[in-house]
Amino acid sequence: MTPSPLDPPTAEMSWAERATVLAADFAQRAAELDETAQLPIENLRALHEAGFDVAWLPESFGGQGLSWVTFGRVLATIAKACPSTATIWLMHLGAAYGLVHMSDDDNARFFAHELAGGKRFANALSEPTGGNLFLMPLQAARPVDAGFVLDGAKRFVSGCEIADYLLVNALVEDVPAFFGITPDDTLRLVPIWDSVGLRATRSQLITFEGTLLPASRRCTKLTDEPNPIPIGLPFLSIGVAEAALEALREHARGRVIPTTGQPLADMQWVQFAAADAHVRLRAATLLAGHTAWLADQRSPMANPSSLEAKLLSNEVAKDVAALGVKVGGGSGYLKTSPIQRHFRDAQAGALMAYSAEVCQAEIGKAVMGETATAD
Ligand SMILES: Cc1cc2nc3c(=O)[nH]c(=O)nc-3n(C[C@H](O)[C@H](O)[C@H](O)COP(=O)(O)OP(=O)(O)OC[C@H]3O[C@@H](n4cnc5c(N)ncnc54)[C@H](O)[C@@H]3O)c2cc1C
Repeated sequence: MTPSPLDPPTAEMSWAERATVLAADFAQRAAELDETAQLPIENLRALHEAGFDVAWLPESFGGQGLSWVTFGRVLATIAKACPSTATIWLMHLGAAYGLVHMSDDDNARFFAHELAGGKRFANALSEPTGGNLFLMPLQAARPVDAGFVLDGAKRFVSGCEIADYLLVNALVEDVPAFFGITPDDTLRLVPIWDSVGLRATRSQLITFEGTLLPASRRCTKLTDEPNPIPIGLPFLSIGVAEAALEALREHARGRVIPTTGQPLADMQWVQFAAADAHVRLRAATLLAGHTAWLADQRSPMANPSSLEAKLLSNEVAKDVAALGVKVGGGSGYLKTSPIQRHFRDAQAGALMAYSAEVCQAEIGKAVMGETATAD
C-alpha cells in the first residue's frame, strides 16, 4: 500500500493490522452469507471481542478515542472482506455513538456501558415515505404521560433482528426528536429484505403500533462529536471497489485468450481501463481519508466533505464493479464468481442516504452559490 499522510497514526497501526487479520476470516464466509442472506453474527462478535466497538468512543466513556482516519482504514478493510458485516457494524456504531453523544449524562453512560457489554444497536430512521430524508421524519409521535407514542414504520433497518436498542426519530411537537428505545412487542419485523446486494445486512421493515418513545430516553443534546456513519459510508464503497478490482485482476491474469495466447491482463483496453479504475479509486480513498482527517480536527468542513467523498466513492465502486463484469465475461457472470457479488454489492452505496443524487444536489448548490429565488 502506498504510504500517505492520511494513514493511521503509528500508535494506532496495530488496530489496522488486527482488522486485516479479522477480515481474512470474514472473507472466507462472505459468499455463503450472501447466498443464504444470514446475519454475520460471528463476525460482529469477533469485532466486539477485539475491542473495535468502543475504540472510537472518548476515554471518558470507556473508549480509546482513536482517530477517524484509523476508523476509515479499519472499515474499508472489513468492507473489502464482507461488506454486509461492515454495513451492520457501521450502523451499530452510528446508533450507539449517536446515543452516547446526544443523551443526558446518565443515559450516555448507560448506552456506553451497554455497548461495552456487547449489546447491539441499530438505526430505525428511514421512513417508507421519507426516502432519503432520514433525518427529517414525517411521522409524528403523540404526547402521553411517559413520553410520546409512535404509530408508523421504519424501513431498511440493518441488523434490526439482533438489536437490543434502536435509535428512532419522530416528529415531536413539530420538531424532529431522537430516542434510544428498547424493542418491545409493539414492534413487528416485516421481512422485506430479499435484496440484490448486501444481502446479509437483513435490513428489514419495522412497524410501530402504539410504541412508547419514553421521555426519559429522549436525546437532549446537540453534539459536535463526529458520527461514524457519514465518515464511514465512503469507506464502505471503497472496500467494495478494492475487492472488485482485485477480483477483476485475478481473472484477467488467469484467463488466456486463445487467439493471442496472452492473458487478458496484457490487453491494452484492459490495462487502460484498470489504470483509470486504480487512479479513481486512489482519489476516492484520499478524499475519504481527508474527510476523516477533517473529522479528527473537528472541522465544520467534515460534513460537506463527507458528501463529496461519498459521491465519488459510490460512483467509483459501481464503475469498477461494472468493469469487472466486462472483464469477467461469462465466467464472472456465474454465481460461483466473486465478480457478480461485488457488482451487486456495489450498487447499494449510492442508494443509501444520502444517495449519490442527493449528494450531487447539495454539492452543486454549494458550488453554484446561493441564488435569489423570485417569489
Ligand atoms: C443496504 C442498505 C442499508 C440501509 N440501512 C439503513 C439503516 O440501518 N437504517 C436506516 O434508517 N436506513 C437504512 N437504509 C435506508 C437508506 O439510508 C435510505 O434512507 C433509503 O435507501 C432511501 O430509500 P428510498 O427507496 O426511499 O429512496 P428515495 O429517497 O425515494 O430515492 C429514490 C430516487 O430519488 C432520488 N432522490 C430522492 N430524494 C432526492 C432529492 N432530494 N434530490 C435528488 N434526488 C433525490 C434518489 O437519489 C434516488 O435516485 C439502508 C438502505 C440500504 C440500501
